[in-house]
Amino acid sequence: MARAFEIVDAAGAVKWDDLPRLLAKLRAELAPLAPGPLREIKPDTEELGRYLQAPDPLMPASFYARLALEAWARHAPIQQQKPKPNECPHCGHAPQLGILRTEGNGEALRLACSLCRREWPFRRITCPQCGETDHEKLVFYSTPGFPHVQVQTCQTCSTYLYLFHVDKDPALVAEVDEMSLLAVDVWALELGYQKIWPNLAGL
Ligand SMILES: [Zn+2]
Ligand SMILES: [Zn+2]
Repeated sequence: MARAFEIVDAAGAVKWDDLPRLLAKLRAELAPLAPGPLREIKPDTEELGRYLQAPDPLMPASFYARLALEAWARHAPIQQQKPKPNECPHCGHAPQLGILRTEGNGEALRLACSLCRREWPFRRITCPQCGETDHEKLVFYSTPGFPHVQVQTCQTCSTYLYLFHVDKDPALVAEVDEMSLLAVDVWALELGYQKIWPNLAGL
């Protein structure tokens, strides 16, 4: 694993031209340790540019390509002009999930970017996909076995988003924990909801 990141310089930055090499290294290092479906993925360098320029939630890049892009995007000199409230202010990509943290007497919400993982503040009780704020259209579900997770669903645009209460589990790594919620994803899909942005495993 450590060898996969020799490409990263002291500041943690990865150059765009190094991404194909990083992609190949991530695949070589992680695939032998990964569960079946991730072991079979053969990443393609063309998906790097495609996912960056024209991200499509119905056709996400592979697990390895997204890891490589994340390493690049975190430090890339991207300057997003006038991002919308539901877009990452750094790279303009869609939110992957929500993070709730105790602030004062309540909880503040931040959305976490599906590409660079940066977080930005967002209004509570608002659908990040369509902007719905009607309390009757936004329904929150808790998930048995995952007390730190809430599912925010929107009946207006039929999307859902996971909210992670990080204070309830200090060991939580939201983007990793999200991949353990497969049963909840299946439940949401059966109800007709689509996740705003699929997780690293494409779910
Ligand atoms: Zn971003
Ligand atoms: Zn909505």
